[in-house]
Amino acid sequence: MKKTVLRNYARLIAKVGANVQKDQEVIIFAGLDQPEFVKMLTEECYKLGAGKVRVEWSYDALEKVHARYQKQRVLSRTEEWEKAKLQHMVDVLPVRIFLESEDPDGLNGIHKRYFKAVQARAAVRKPYRDAIDNKHQWCIAAVPGVAWAKKLYPTRSKRQAVEQLWRDILFTARADSDDPIAVWQAHNADLKRRCAYLNGLGLTKLCYRAANGTDFSVGLMPRGRFHAGADTTLQGVVFNPNMPTEEVFTSPDRRTAQGIVYATKPLSFQGNLIEDFSVRFEAGRVVEVKAEKGQSVLEYIASMDEASHYLGECALVPKESPINRSGLLFYSTLFDENAACHLALGDGFPECVEGFEDLSREELYELGLNSSINHTDFMIGAEDMDIDGVTEDGRVVPIFRNGTWAF
Ligand code: ZN
Repeated sequence: MKKTVLRNYARLIAKVGANVQKDQEVIIFAGLDQPEFVKMLTEECYKLGAGKVRVEWSYDALEKVHARYQKQRVLSRTEEWEKAKLQHMVDVLPVRIFLESEDPDGLNGIHKRYFKAVQARAAVRKPYRDAIDNKHQWCIAAVPGVAWAKKLYPTRSKRQAVEQLWRDILFTARADSDDPIAVWQAHNADLKRRCAYLNGLGLTKLCYRAANGTDFSVGLMPRGRFHAGADTTLQGVVFNPNMPTEEVFTSPDRRTAQGIVYATKPLSFQGNLIEDFSVRFEAGRVVEVKAEKGQSVLEYIASMDEASHYLGECALVPKESPINRSGLLFYSTLFDENAACHLALGDGFPECVEGFEDLSREELYELGLNSSINHTDFMIGAEDMDIDGVTEDGRVVPIFRNGTWAF
């Protein structure tokens, strides 16, 4: 890919994605296979005035070695210095940029004690994560690693596969024009208009139907809010947490999901693929999961903690989204969740509750917002999906018709 295009993309991530402010600390999380792009991105952060940029490298193959040789209690433990690092994050509120590049199957075959360890460590991290929620900018974007590219394009050479995945990433992230920053401003404005309309309706419920058997409804919290595109920290800095982003989302009342949903795309979870599955809810809780492939992984996702049985997100994505139009399964939630309407089991988003700034996580929970160590999206949007909204006074408002916006 041409250097100028990559430079534009790095600038887009630093400026529109993370919106790095003067003297801010930045942490970039990246795979070992991306030194060149990370260098470029680091430079763009400094050009925006970053005080210090730090990189945390990861390498799945190394994780596997650790999981194989470390004892369960060692693998699960969060060391004091790691807590100090987390506390530093809470104190300093660095910008965090996550670059996805690694093989989606990179953790395949990892020792099963790894997943237990992830759970234990996530529980320790949760209060730190809650403490920085909505107080710092963060952005997830992607760059093509070789193994990931070969997974999508197995018959091409490594070079050609990476080049094609670059084109796919830049197309779906709306980053392939000469002025991607202007394109993102227009895109964000459109998403904001849709949010404003939905929030103005005063919806109490969403009802989904599709020919594949999906027949499902979910209640919305009285103080619930739809969000999309750019986000704003409590300090007032605007940033884009996901590149790409096509969804308009909210967190539902966790106690209300009812009926059955059929997944319309496979779900790639920590190197495992779950296919042809359905989830049935009663009074908010998952009562049955069925998968043609990956049943045990799906069961694991729905039971990581008690709250994993409940929904934390419903998101609306029209079928015209560039990710859907690309026709690709990226094996990455960042992309795949933006291909179709989806739900997520687990954690809800505080910012989806009006006035969340003054409420504790316990108070938000009382209002119906789920709280979990888990947040796993799965796609249910179908070409023929209809979604109706029901307002406080019982009016039925079409939200989606045939897989796309009805307004
Ligand atoms: Zn989502």
